[in-house]
Amino acid sequence: MKKFNTPLGEIKIDILGHASLFMQWKGKNIYVDPYSEVADYSKLPSADFVLLTHHHFDHLDKEALKHIVNEQTLFVTNRGCKAELPQANALTQGDSYNYEGIEITAVYAYNIVNKNEQGEPFHPRGEGNGYILDFNGYRLYIAGDTEHIPEMKELGEIDLAFMPKNLPYTMSDQMFIEALKTVMPKQLFAIHYFEIDVPKLKEMMPQGVELLNEK
Ligand code: ZN
Ligand code: ZN
Repeated sequence: MKKFNTPLGEIKIDILGHASLFMQWKGKNIYVDPYSEVADYSKLPSADFVLLTHHHFDHLDKEALKHIVNEQTLFVTNRGCKAELPQANALTQGDSYNYEGIEITAVYAYNIVNKNEQGEPFHPRGEGNGYILDFNGYRLYIAGDTEHIPEMKELGEIDLAFMPKNLPYTMSDQMFIEALKTVMPKQLFAIHYFEIDVPKLKEMMPQGVELLNEK
């Protein structure tokens, strides 16, 4: 697991694949968008906290959840997940939820350019969430399924970002770099990709932004 120091203590993070993260912090097991295609959740510890960005099958996956959820598991989701997870704390963009001292704020995540065959954006504005997780000043950004959007200008300082890169659902490499120039995270992982050329992306990084993907 990768380790990051915050004013609220060390966070350990594993990227399980696609948009799925597993974090350990202060003895708590935290999952983001657990997806059974990328990990065997029957072998992972049960979840204290689950954060879901939106209802698509690669983000809200009951097959993954059934292995890790127990009666104590807390959920923060977008509003669209609440039909399937009535116990969830559903946030609209701008809403916050405090989990054990981590201030979690929902932010926008949507498509402007990329649309389905019906001409609708794959991710309409207002439906899915991204999240800022503020560990008392160390700010983590989980972008959700999004393109480069104007609201990224208002995220504030980001220490560590997880941003998607794949067509047609999220961003091209070029758009991904443009989004980075707006967000300017100190460090980031590209996630949600079908293919990735890490050396090429590293060459394209804006100055001051460190891509942490290894391959
Ligand atoms: Zn999606
Ligand atoms: Zn997705």
